[in-house]
Amino acid sequence: MRQTEDIIQKLLRIRKARELSEQPQMSEEEVEALREFIIENRRQIPPFAMSHFDRLEASGKMGIAEVVDKKCSACGARISDDEIAYLQKNKNIGVCDNCFAFIYMDGQKFAGDDEFFADLLRRARTAEKPNQAK
Ligand SMILES: [Zn+2]
Repeated sequence: MRQTEDIIQKLLRIRKARELSEQPQMSEEEVEALREFIIENRRQIPPFAMSHFDRLEASGKMGIAEVVDKKCSACGARISDDEIAYLQKNKNIGVCDNCFAFIYMDGQKFAGDDEFFADLLRRARTAEKPNQAK
């Protein structure tokens, strides 16, 4: 996977993991696994990208948004054809001129995260009693 795609996917997963960890039905083990996942993934994202994302999300905005129908899905601003060509060309990551969210194309590529997190949480639940495994 290209580095830019990798960053897009990690940012999306960090956001998803944070949302999941805030759900009341999560067990301690699950929350712990999600926190570890977030820390590990944050380490792999360039610091400037991470802090840009954090700043936006902390102020209640979206740090990353898909471009849908040539518009930023965070704020609805129109994305220029030049920018769209750039995003499509090498699966690049851009920034919305209006809301400053990171923007990307082709959300299907990053779907399948439900299954990814179901797996992660299943592993967190089954790994919780090492002493009884013998
Ligand atoms: Zn926007």
